[in-house]
Amino acid sequence: MGNFTNTKTVNISHKVILDLSNHLIYMFLFDQIIFGPIHSRRLGLSLGVNLLPIDAKICSFNCIYCECGYNTTMQESPIPTREQVRFTLEAKLKEMVAEGQIPDVITFAGNGEPTLHAEFEGIIDDTIALRDTYYPTAKVSVLSNSTRIHKPNVFRALNKVDNNILKFDSAIDRTMKLMDCPVGKDLNVAWFIEHLKKFEGRLIIQTMFLRGEFKGESFDNTTNEEVTAWLNALSEIKPQQVMIYSLDREAPTKTLQKVSVDELNIIADRARKLEFDVSVAG
Ligand code: SF4
Repeated sequence: MGNFTNTKTVNISHKVILDLSNHLIYMFLFDQIIFGPIHSRRLGLSLGVNLLPIDAKICSFNCIYCECGYNTTMQESPIPTREQVRFTLEAKLKEMVAEGQIPDVITFAGNGEPTLHAEFEGIIDDTIALRDTYYPTAKVSVLSNSTRIHKPNVFRALNKVDNNILKFDSAIDRTMKLMDCPVGKDLNVAWFIEHLKKFEGRLIIQTMFLRGEFKGESFDNTTNEEVTAWLNALSEIKPQQVMIYSLDREAPTKTLQKVSVDELNIIADRARKLEFDVSVAG
């Protein structure tokens, strides 16, 4: 899942393409399977893993704020195999050992939704084994958009990682659909809550707070109605932690407004009053 970095050192390709309406789209893509290590504002020194192509974003959401840009069919490079991921990750970990670098976390993020990879569970197993060999103190994190948590292999894999970070942007259907633009299936908030509850607290909820306009419709997931519904959903899901943030980098939709850190802190305080462990990324 995109929206992960806060870095100057990671290898990134910037790609500008035209969408179907001939608008320029600026895409921010990770151009390697393994990227970093980088300083993530949320995760510490993080070695990233990208299970998607290096020249296109593929996702089961098409979030209007995605740093990787909108979904595209202009893919030329393949999806990496399980073997390629294991080989490349091990080579990078050996290099880091030689350089005395110690990652806090190995993070699955990258150019789209990592759980779309057909061998996701096996890749998680390989990664945990490599972590145990080279850096037993490092955490394994997955940033996912929650759309595939109903799949038994994805659910099993996410239960194995240290930080199971799952997106939940709004508890109101209209807003979720406007912000996240689910692809294909007609997903709704009730479906997400039902499946997020199945982790029985072994999850971290990640929410993007944002306001703006998209396709002539305005939205704002910081209103009292929105935050109240979101808090009610959190009370059902019972996450071990909540991460909230707003725009960090250029978004493909130009009619969005970043929510200030002060506003994020007000939302966080409401959640803390309900005893949620909340972190704010400014
Ligand atoms: S879930 Fe949204 S933000 Fe993450 S990669 Fe997919 S479209 Fe981008």
